[in-house]
Amino acid sequence: MENRIQISVVIPLYNEDESLPELYAWIKRVMAENHFTHEIIFINDGSTDRSWAVIEDLASKDSCVHGIKFRRNYGKSPALFCGFRAAQGQVVITMDADLQDSPDEIPELYRMITEEGFDLVSGYKQKRYDPLSKTIPTKLFNATARKVSGIPNLHDFNCGLKAYRVDVVKNIEVYGEMHRYIPYLAKNAGFDRIGEKVVHHQARKFGKTKFGGLNRFVNGYLDLLSLWFLNSFGLKPMHVFGFLGTIMFFVGFVAILVVGGIKLSAIWSHTPAPLVTDSPYFYISLTMMILGTQLFLAGFLGELISRNSAGRNDYQIEKEI
Ligand code: UDP
Ligand code: MG
Repeated sequence: MENRIQISVVIPLYNEDESLPELYAWIKRVMAENHFTHEIIFINDGSTDRSWAVIEDLASKDSCVHGIKFRRNYGKSPALFCGFRAAQGQVVITMDADLQDSPDEIPELYRMITEEGFDLVSGYKQKRYDPLSKTIPTKLFNATARKVSGIPNLHDFNCGLKAYRVDVVKNIEVYGEMHRYIPYLAKNAGFDRIGEKVVHHQARKFGKTKFGGLNRFVNGYLDLLSLWFLNSFGLKPMHVFGFLGTIMFFVGFVAILVVGGIKLSAIWSHTPAPLVTDSPYFYISLTMMILGTQLFLAGFLGELISRNSAGRNDYQIEKEI
């Protein structure tokens, strides 16, 4: 491709000042050995340690180094988003700053994108050096993500080490905590040549993990649900809510006919007519008709919102001639 630089390395970091010099030196070594033109973009996600001073120091000595400094800690996804926006290279590589991901993987990742034609290649930490409390839930998480996203060949969605064709990162929006699902975001945007490479992983050398605790799994699953829903019905909410609402309303309507029928036939045959509230169908009808109307309205409101949303006509156009 033209005279574009070959590789942008995008590194989100939060309090990793001890790792940065070593990481930088290692990346430079790999780039020099392979003669890659490159840039390194550090996104300082509101670190409270010396990380920014280290980045400033590196940038002053090396024009390949760029830094973005957040005023406060926003999270890994916003950091990646801003790194992606700034990236200029033909291939964009993301990696964690904690030295758990090895820069030695870069040449092969680059080759897979440029020569094998992948849009995205995700690292796979087959042998992980993390505590069991992390690795076991992660297995479950990946199994679910594989099913829901329809990307059956990925074992490690959340691996920090990934390579992208530059179009991919310019056309996806990583927000909230969606960095866990970037392959799914890419697939939804139409980039479906998604590959995987087994990568070396190391135990954390300095500092400790920024993603502890259990609630990240709850949030992770909720995010997966919203992605699935957005992708399936985001542009046509009426199709799901309107459909369910109509069915429910119909069931409720039939039930009320049954209740009315029982009452009328009792009156006509001069037997003592039961109260409508004695019949279970009365309650079924009541709930169904109310729920049905609510669902229908939710669909209608959703439709109005999506019709007015700024992104309603954002379609992925690959080429125009
Ligand atoms: N990170 C970040 N912002 C945050 C949390 C983490 O930029 O709010 C960075 C962190 O500095 C590291 C990467 O995201 O470079 C992965 O974090 P970590 O190593 O703690 O995650 P783990 O490897 O334990 O999953
Ligand atoms: Mg880590």
